Amino acid sequence: MASTRLRGGIDLGGTKIEAIIIDAGDTVMGSSRRATPTTGRPAGVAREMARALTDAAKAAGVETSRLIGAGVGSPGVVDPQTGAVSGARNLPGWSGRFELAAVLSEKLGTKVAVGNDVQVATDAEFQLGAGKPYKSILGVFWGTGVGGGIVLDGKPWVGRGGAGEIGHVVVRVGGARCGCGRRGCMEAYAGRASMEARARRNVERGKRTDLFKLMEERGRTRLTSAVWSHAVEHNDKLAVKLVRDAVIALGAGIGSSINLLDVEAVIIGGGLGIRFGQPMAERIAAAMQPHLFNDTHPPDVKVAILGDLGGAIGASLLVKPRTTTRSRSARATKA
Ligand SMILES: [Zn+2]
Repeated sequence: MASTRLRGGIDLGGTKIEAIIIDAGDTVMGSSRRATPTTGRPAGVAREMARALTDAAKAAGVETSRLIGAGVGSPGVVDPQTGAVSGARNLPGWSGRFELAAVLSEKLGTKVAVGNDVQVATDAEFQLGAGKPYKSILGVFWGTGVGGGIVLDGKPWVGRGGAGEIGHVVVRVGGARCGCGRRGCMEAYAGRASMEARARRNVERGKRTDLFKLMEERGRTRLTSAVWSHAVEHNDKLAVKLVRDAVIALGAGIGSSINLLDVEAVIIGGGLGIRFGQPMAERIAAAMQPHLFNDTHPPDVKVAILGDLGGAIGASLLVKPRTTTRSRSARATKA
């Protein structure tokens, strides 16, 4: 029965929930997107997640109870054994622990596995995307914040559930205040939210920029990746400077991480990473270079290729037997 080989994937983001149904050959058969609730409690978020996957299943012509399982990529600290999520600070009322896997499993009638959102997106790039040629990679997701995921020798490295927080690698001791409350984190210079805050402070001090005009023209309330990229294309001085500062911070943080991990490749994803594309990946590689201890043998630096659905695809891989996937990927690469 074909439907028994289908699986679900849900990417739980701060602004949207992306759900897919995917088949054994990793082809997306149905998808659905919902806004992440901004009020209410984790139970309300879980209800929307279940609705999103149910809609995706309807589009694929299957009942969720017929799936072999569903995977979830979630922010916060994930307990890989129980699928409980705690400290998802950008979601409503989610500072404590919530049994996400158990609650979703009950609603969907299939088993549910939960992983860290950035880690599963990294694993998707490793198994199916830009990371396929390599055995060890570092995923860097450059968006509102800067998230990281690690695959070592073919296996995701999650530490005790909190590994990969590359955004909070310190690039300047006593430096700028980060959204996490600490100082000098890479994200305090390179995260889109921090870049926007810096831009606003510069405007208050009388600096000129078209960033906020471009934002209003597009009917946005935030400096999106598209706004940043257009401002840089139009040579907006402040935008160019803030992006340069971000790249310097990324170079220091990623370069230092490479000194520790020595992975074969860095995969750059996230809203800004994908929008700026390969030329920016090359700028980041150049900014890493002075910080590399092993500087004659730098890692490859590539842009993520799975795009918007990468997170949901990665989540779905949590319920797919891993050895099968990797050996098929490896064959596909050689072919
Ligand atoms: Zn921080």
